[in-house]
Amino acid sequence: MEAQAKATVELLKVLVADPENEEHLDELKKRIINGDDSLDHAAHSVIARLFRISVTWSNCINQQICYPIQIRKPRCLDDIVTAISDAQKRKITIRATGSGHSYSNVAPVFKGGLLLDPHDMNRVLIIDPGLLKYPLGAGKLFAVESGITIKDLNTALDKRNLALANMGAYDGQTLAGAISTGTHGTGITLGPIASSVRAVVLVSGDGTVYQIEPSQGISDPEAFDKQVRDRILKQDDDWFNTVVISMGCTGIIYSYILEVVDSYYLEENRDLSTWEQVKQDLTFPVEGRLPKVLTENRHYEVDINPYPVKGRHSCVVQTKNKVDADHPSGSRGIEDWIAGILAGCPLAEYWLVRALNLWPTTSPEIINNALNSLVVKHHIDKSYKILNLGPVDNVKALAVELSYPVDEHLVGAIDNLLSVFQNEANKMNWYMAGPFSLRFVAASDAYLAPQQGRLTCMVELDMLLGITTGDELLTSITRKVQRGNSQVRVHWGLDLDTISKESIKELYPKYSEWFKVYSELNTMGIFDSPFTDRLEISVNPLR
Ligand SMILES: Cc1cc2nc3c(=O)[nH]c(=O)nc-3n(C[C@H](O)[C@H](O)[C@H](O)COP(=O)(O)OP(=O)(O)OC[C@H]3O[C@@H](n4cnc5c(N)ncnc54)[C@H](O)[C@@H]3O)c2cc1C
Repeated sequence: MEAQAKATVELLKVLVADPENEEHLDELKKRIINGDDSLDHAAHSVIARLFRISVTWSNCINQQICYPIQIRKPRCLDDIVTAISDAQKRKITIRATGSGHSYSNVAPVFKGGLLLDPHDMNRVLIIDPGLLKYPLGAGKLFAVESGITIKDLNTALDKRNLALANMGAYDGQTLAGAISTGTHGTGITLGPIASSVRAVVLVSGDGTVYQIEPSQGISDPEAFDKQVRDRILKQDDDWFNTVVISMGCTGIIYSYILEVVDSYYLEENRDLSTWEQVKQDLTFPVEGRLPKVLTENRHYEVDINPYPVKGRHSCVVQTKNKVDADHPSGSRGIEDWIAGILAGCPLAEYWLVRALNLWPTTSPEIINNALNSLVVKHHIDKSYKILNLGPVDNVKALAVELSYPVDEHLVGAIDNLLSVFQNEANKMNWYMAGPFSLRFVAASDAYLAPQQGRLTCMVELDMLLGITTGDELLTSITRKVQRGNSQVRVHWGLDLDTISKESIKELYPKYSEWFKVYSELNTMGIFDSPFTDRLEISVNPLR
């Protein structure tokens, strides 16, 4: 308590006289890590070095690490504005991270930069109907701060008998983190979560607060101008389609207005099949007409063994469709393939990974056992419980995800992917340690959405953590597939840093529009980061 009341200079005086004073040392550490506005950048660095206080951030599997000068937890819009102003004064970069559930380097800040952890910005906000062009209820709008987790958002929506139209298979991400990388679920009529966004409130690099909406956005510009003092309304398709998926490069997002739906129940079924059967189901009946399995199921997904066992690639076909129900029924025995692998194997996870490293050729059989354990019949529950798999923060896998156009060539492209898996196994003895999945997503207008401008099949390649050749195999497959097919994009978060400047220019027809808006908002390169360096778009690459 005594230390808490002291100014930082006084703390330092005590510590110079008594370096072992734990209470004072703890207080100093807290101030250095959480930020101390009384210190300038140089003083902060010197004290951190002298007292060996290092601030480290890492993602959920500790494979992306960075060393910010501080990690601040803003609680409101003003805290973000202050943080940006501090970063400007100190001439350092700033970035927000979400829950750290991206495997790529989209979240880390440069060494010595300021990192914002938005988890304390998690409140539901009130929408003023007087600011809208149409009365509330025409679409169901829901305003919420950016750091809320998908899990807490679902709970908040459910309390109001509302729900997201769709979500990914996991709920540990923050809303901003999930939206910013194009996170999606499955369902050919349903876009990524970003497609539900109707407005983004963001603080740009020069500290201006914008509410950004499409050109025909929900807000009434006249009413907005008269009544709202703390932000500028920008209704502009280029701005909106840039910022909504921009991997933290265009500003710090404070909040969103989402369009949501009435809460609903889904029935989930998971059936065993083979790729040889599924590819008939995914073949276009006539040119331009989608296969029935995609149009007749709200959510359709296939999990496939990358390797044949007895000449066939086993699959699990998952369908989830709306049902009239008012209570849950049935259950999932096994949630997901990782649980399936562990349930079907007498070894603990550590020994299983060791065994797969020693005898990788056992992988096809192990994956088959996992798939066999996933069968589910007539499992009914609230939408967000059915769409969510796996417990939060129990991440034992690594993944990359490839985006293919849904067209007449899709089945051939998946056959080609299977031959890439087989070649890597034959030549290198490198095996996947999990199935891969096909999920189907509606086209997105966001300029850098992996689903931009086309119906998309997202192909996720999963790998158990600890497989020694796992990273090399996933990277090699990504490169080989992209070399052979110039239309394959990669998920911004589920990527092992393979995306380069050349590949985005080629793959995203709206990249130059995105870049123009990005350049306006990333004033003085304040949002530069290892990610913008990788894409060679840092404004000040020498920082
Ligand atoms: C177990 C697991 C399951 C997954 N399931 C799916 C899935 O089903 N579908 C799918 O598409 N993806 C999935 N992913 C990928 C994941 O959804 C994305 O990588 C997502 O971006 C992670 O969100 P996050 O909150 O952890 O954000 P982070 O990974 O920490 O950050 C992502 C990006 O958002 C930016 N950002 C975060 N907050 C803000 C803010 N307030 N302002 C500005 N920028 C911000 C960061 O700078 C960064 O660029 C999964 C990942 C894991 C680990």
